[in-house]
Amino acid sequence: MLISPKSMLEKANKEGYAVPAFNINNLEILQAVIEAALEENSPVIIQTSEGAIEYAGMEYLGAIVRVAGELNDIPIALHLDHGRDYNLVKKAIDSGFYTSVMFDGSSLPFEDNVLKTKDVVVMARKKRPAIQVEAELGAIPGKEDLIHVSRRDAFYTNPEQAEEFVEKTGCDSLAISIGTAHGAFKFTDDPSLDFERLKEIKKRVKVPLVLHGASEVNQEIVKIANSFGAKLGGVKGVSNRLLSHAVKLGINKVNIDTDLRIAFDAGVRKFLKTYPKVFDPRKILGPAKDLIRQEARDKMRLLGSSGKA
Ligand SMILES: [Zn+2]
Repeated sequence: MLISPKSMLEKANKEGYAVPAFNINNLEILQAVIEAALEENSPVIIQTSEGAIEYAGMEYLGAIVRVAGELNDIPIALHLDHGRDYNLVKKAIDSGFYTSVMFDGSSLPFEDNVLKTKDVVVMARKKRPAIQVEAELGAIPGKEDLIHVSRRDAFYTNPEQAEEFVEKTGCDSLAISIGTAHGAFKFTDDPSLDFERLKEIKKRVKVPLVLHGASEVNQEIVKIANSFGAKLGGVKGVSNRLLSHAVKLGINKVNIDTDLRIAFDAGVRKFLKTYPKVFDPRKILGPAKDLIRQEARDKMRLLGSSGKA
């Protein structure tokens, strides 16, 4: 059975580690992540973005994750990632598949974000068992809008506002902006995270904190991808050292998407180049699954969720 991430995240908050939340788009990625969670005895949040739902359909994705929950004796939650469209969030809540949703009103003015998030919280609380709601305050940029240091305050999460936001909305967890960015092409220099800000937010906000855009962009895997034809020059992520410090300071959920994509890409490219005469999809996707599984296990160890199932 799929469970609510509530107990998972509260335990992580109390014990000082983070639960990984992996984005999936298909069966193979899901299986690789679940295998990793079993091997590490780790709780795991599976999440689907609006893009994943557009690609594969909410019903298909919901059904395979539900089966994963039925077959495996570890805590598995299903979460809607970055719901910006109110109707999609409502559909996810009503679907019976999701145990958690994110409403992302981070691009709205503060008061609008409060009102819309609150609406979603009210809707989610009516379900039995209640659906959890992750909200976002402060913008987490993508590669197209890199933040200049002088404009930090406009984007980064304001600690006082965060306290007020959680109080007013009743959201169950909060995604914050402290210097991470979505995607692989996000940093030209080594990134720095605003740890002072994180500490201040943690003091004021009691619900679990979520970090997006913290992919590592593992250079070993980028090297494999590039040596078999990819052109991922200049990609750079958040180092393991920075990420594990953020967890130490109070991050309780870390979203992971880009790192799995790069592993998938490297595995498929390597296989196709090495075995040009093989056209069996099961063989083509096998090595990609192995790389994703390894990547997921590494994350669980780094975040401290191994052994916490
Ligand atoms: Zn995100």
